[in-house]
Amino acid sequence: MHVRHSSHLTAVVFFSLFWLSLPAFAEEIRLLVRTSPRDSVEVAGYDSAGVRYICVSDLATALRFASAVNDTVQKFEFRVSAQRIKFSRNNPFLVVTDVPSNASSVYQLSQSVILRERKYYAPLFAFVSFFDRMWAGGVSLDSITHTLSLGSFEDAPEFDITGVSIERKSNGYLLIVHALRKFGEVEAWLKPDGWLFVTIANAKADTFALSRTRLFGAVRSLLTFQSPTSVQLTFKVSPDVAQAEVIHEPESHDLLIALRTLSPPEKEAIEKKRQQAIQENLEKERSRWKLDVIVIDAGHGGKDPGALGVAKTKEKDITLGVALKLGKLLEKNLKGVKVVYTRKTDTFVELYRRAQIANEAGGKLFVSIHCNSLERKPSRARGFEIYLLRPGKTEEAIDIAERENSVIQLEEGYEQRYQKLTEENFILVTMAQSAYVKYSEHFAEIAAETMEKHSTLRNSGVKQAGFYVLVGASMPNVLVESGYISNRAEEKFLKSSAGQTKIAEALFKGIKQYKEIYEKALSEGSKQ
Ligand SMILES: [Zn+2]
Repeated sequence: MHVRHSSHLTAVVFFSLFWLSLPAFAEEIRLLVRTSPRDSVEVAGYDSAGVRYICVSDLATALRFASAVNDTVQKFEFRVSAQRIKFSRNNPFLVVTDVPSNASSVYQLSQSVILRERKYYAPLFAFVSFFDRMWAGGVSLDSITHTLSLGSFEDAPEFDITGVSIERKSNGYLLIVHALRKFGEVEAWLKPDGWLFVTIANAKADTFALSRTRLFGAVRSLLTFQSPTSVQLTFKVSPDVAQAEVIHEPESHDLLIALRTLSPPEKEAIEKKRQQAIQENLEKERSRWKLDVIVIDAGHGGKDPGALGVAKTKEKDITLGVALKLGKLLEKNLKGVKVVYTRKTDTFVELYRRAQIANEAGGKLFVSIHCNSLERKPSRARGFEIYLLRPGKTEEAIDIAERENSVIQLEEGYEQRYQKLTEENFILVTMAQSAYVKYSEHFAEIAAETMEKHSTLRNSGVKQAGFYVLVGASMPNVLVESGYISNRAEEKFLKSSAGQTKIAEALFKGIKQYKEIYEKALSEGSKQ
């Protein structure tokens, strides 16, 4: 905007105030619009809360612009040469549409447009600086007299960038920026996301003419920014434009920018690479979930014997026996599956360490093997149970978890290591395991079935309680209480190699079945 003091305009200052029946903060004013040194018209305005507004409805009438009001959506528009300018009530954005090309842009005013008595008002200063860009001859505002002067078209500034045309070439496109003089500094920068910036120093562009550039082919849009020192042309080009290069043509003033598009083989190669990457990612994802590492945890060990049976059988020996037998079955029968043991000998392993071993090995299933026992021995309770990590529901389940958890007292500094499994901590723990809960449940159901069918033990069902050994496992996990050693008959069975083999076989069948179902679902899921 060129704000000129109107010394050369021998204007009569026309600036009168009217008090009307309006809210106290609004002050009616009259603005003078000078259309030529001889002619001027009055336009309503008003001051409100320190902001001066101009009535654009009056302005359109005074300047004989084609205009229209839409009361339903509260919009007003007028047309200046080929541009349509739309005002919306309570909205600071003007929508400017180039009528021939139907291309729109948005201009933000400093304040929202106001509707008063069916007339639209825009903040004066912001509007003038907008209007200055629209009006070829420029617009100036005398900030003392508040006289708006419209420059004649003869006063229009001289442009040296007058337009852009696009030509198709065999290997791309040629952008021709028409210039009226020779420019030295031109930069073209193509960003990988398809924006091409062309900056021309010390230039003045006919933005109106540029807004009407006929776009086609790889060139999808053009925005022109005129700054005091340079012009920036921003093109959006299609993704197959691989390169933009400024060509120096000594014969002509025009600026030439060659856009090289990808050749069909190049495009094909890129597409092939993309497909390959997708495939590789899918494969990676699939193998990440593949059930290829199974962690078997033999409960207790070393200085921790676990529960003692009626005939003093130690739980730790039974769990190790079953674990080793189960591991052997898995290694022998499930190809491509790695079996990881938290212990293979009679050694003491801290509870937290067991889940850690499983996580470090990238386990996809964690099975902790234990035996049940009651305080009162001998007793008649019998059968196996499969536990999921959840707050204990029954007193019996809570007791069992407490007994299994009590081993932490053999560990040094256990108070700091294990958080009490309060209701609140359970929420955190189950949240951490939420991705695996569904799978843990699914495996528990399958294992309970195969255990019932093949172990000869009674199925006491899938239960839930807070076992520390499961807390840190970042994979589906269950704890198997395989029979009661406080029961004479079951102790004998669990102690025997034949009994341990039966349990191992039953668990093996469960794991095998789970793996098949799981991997089938996985491959079906990844085909989508
Ligand atoms: Zn145990």
